[in-house]
Amino acid sequence: MQFQNTRAFAQEMDARDPLRAYKEEFIFPQINGNPVIYFTGNSLGLQPKRTRKYVDEIMKDWAELAVEGHFYAGKPWWDYQERFAAPLSSVVGAKPSEVTVMNTLTINLHLLMVSFYRPVPKRYKILCEAKAFPSDQYMLQSQVKFHGFSPEDAIVEIHRREGEHRIRTEDIVNKIEEIGDELALVLMGGVNYYTGQVFDMEAITRAGHRAGAFVGWDLAHAAGNVKLELHEWGVDFAAWCSYKYMNSGPGNASGAFIHEKHHENTDIPRFAGWWGHNKERRFLMEPEFDPVRGADGWQVSNLPVLSLAPYLASVEMFAEAGMDALIAKRDVLTAYLEYILEQVDAQTTGDFEIITPENPEERACQLSVFLHGQGRPLFDYLMKNGVITDWREPNVIRLAPAPFYCSFEDMYEFGQILRKGIDTLKAG
Ligand SMILES: *Cc1c(COP(=O)(O)O)cnc(C)c1O
Repeated sequence: MQFQNTRAFAQEMDARDPLRAYKEEFIFPQINGNPVIYFTGNSLGLQPKRTRKYVDEIMKDWAELAVEGHFYAGKPWWDYQERFAAPLSSVVGAKPSEVTVMNTLTINLHLLMVSFYRPVPKRYKILCEAKAFPSDQYMLQSQVKFHGFSPEDAIVEIHRREGEHRIRTEDIVNKIEEIGDELALVLMGGVNYYTGQVFDMEAITRAGHRAGAFVGWDLAHAAGNVKLELHEWGVDFAAWCSYKYMNSGPGNASGAFIHEKHHENTDIPRFAGWWGHNKERRFLMEPEFDPVRGADGWQVSNLPVLSLAPYLASVEMFAEAGMDALIAKRDVLTAYLEYILEQVDAQTTGDFEIITPENPEERACQLSVFLHGQGRPLFDYLMKNGVITDWREPNVIRLAPAPFYCSFEDMYEFGQILRKGIDTLKAG
């Protein structure tokens, strides 16, 4: 498509966008009396207007029914998470029995590693990407030490090649083959949080399985952003937070996936609790644990219904809009943002460089921009002028034009502000 750096063109694109009405469904912070241009949906998604109703519902049921709400609330609390199964499985490409919501992301990955990281002296290594999200690094180190191995030996990180920003799939697959029967687990981020690179999850999962390892994915930046086929790909397990692209609110509940092939195996090690026990017999208070045959069998505690409510509102919104429509818009919107950045770069002569892969197959809703010229002052300028971006050391801003609530006109407007910011700061 031939893009143009004009407001009229951007408005025309918006007029033709089948998802344009959703922008009205979100609440935008205001700067200088105007709604911001919001690029940090990969960090904390905006609040959908419909969320409040879901939370109020629980508050009302609690006030009016108290303990009876467990069974008699409009949406009973004791199995509230089952309402996620259909819509959430459509978002991540799973069967309804393969997904559940519980706890928070790092906690869920720890719990899933109890089941899927079972090192023995000959097979104990974990493969992950270099510069993984810090929480994942701490998690892997602590798990490895917990099992009596040393992180230096047991954790194998895949690096990008000198002079490249992305990590090549072939380098990952070759490393998996090289580690071979020492490899216990592949556990990577589906989308790298820093560069925005989307990994070839299908090919990497296949390679991990060929080596006899389990394969799990941290989908923090992938859920609600990229096309996932977790069931088809045969992924063993995955988890994601819901507060980034999935707009569920700060620090909110995590989703988890456990492939059907593991559901009947009641001997699989797990850290159990009463909410994972056979649903029909949960309140008989029996001593013997009988896990639910499905992802719900990994539940531990009584559900935090107040925090699940905003997530449910959001998941239903995703199912309603459909991942295919969101992805179609995401691709054009990201390409338009890339075009706008290139235009500004040409006008201001080489101040920045996009470090996210150019190949649409290897990126999603994020462009990471390395600022060679103005750094932090430019970030501050953008913020003061109504554009919320995200700053990462040493000199990177991340821009995520979330298709639910970012418009083409936002991209155009951002380009104008960015150019003015660079010119202003240069003039000093
Ligand atoms: C955001 C993010 C996390 C955060 O984990 P929490 O347990 O929700 O704090 C973990 N891993 C990745 C890859 C992330 O992007």
